[in-house]
Amino acid sequence: MAEKKEFKAESKRLLDLMINSIYTHKEIFLRELISNASDAIDKYYYYALQNHQDPGDLAINIQLDVENRLLTIQDDGIGMDKEELEENLGTIAKSGSLAFKEELAKKEKGESDVDIIGQFGVGFYAAFMVAKEVKVISKKAGSDEAYEWVSDGANGYTIEPAIKEGHGTTVILSLKEDDDTERYSQYLDSNQISDLVKKYSDFIRYPIKMDVEVE
Ligand code: ADP
Ligand code: MG
Repeated sequence: MAEKKEFKAESKRLLDLMINSIYTHKEIFLRELISNASDAIDKYYYYALQNHQDPGDLAINIQLDVENRLLTIQDDGIGMDKEELEENLGTIAKSGSLAFKEELAKKEKGESDVDIIGQFGVGFYAAFMVAKEVKVISKKAGSDEAYEWVSDGANGYTIEPAIKEGHGTTVILSLKEDDDTERYSQYLDSNQISDLVKKYSDFIRYPIKMDVEVE
């Protein structure tokens, strides 16, 4: 059975802004998800060394499923257990997010035209600028239980047991329709995604692989 939970108040306000954002650089969601994946792999790397294990080849995988409008970012990182999924994804009130929120509010009122891209680390919730639903399947290194966190960003989230092979995290974005060009979302276009990956992966030390599924 899935457990239903509400977001904390501060998270709700940020999510609301993200969901209704007219911000033009929504693509930064990819930077945020790649940087989370990379942080998680760093953590796994140290975990493995501390436990005298070979960390193996660690990578970030991006999958595009055009037909089902899904964009997936998967990492072989440390993963999250049930409590961490709740704690880390249910409560977000970082200074970067708050500053971003203030700038965004100004911009939407037409008061400021500064390009706020790259200025703030806005975090995981940036995914809700482009996704109508976000699913996070995670298995913490050293555990054999996996959990699935699902949210539409508005009505809280659910958590339930899931099945996942290795440690790490899979973030599946079910893309909104409103950013579509004639045929399909720009975030399902492999050329556009690989350009964005190049743009945002300068400081990422792990390979980022891409996998496209068409029809
Ligand atoms: P930040 O990365 O600045 O801490 P985020 O909003 O991007 O803020 O992410 C919140 C937290 O969620 C992270 O600190 C981390 O603990 C957890 N998290 C997010 N993505 C992942 C992931 N792919 N693997 C493991 N933990 C993650
Ligand atoms: Mg982050």
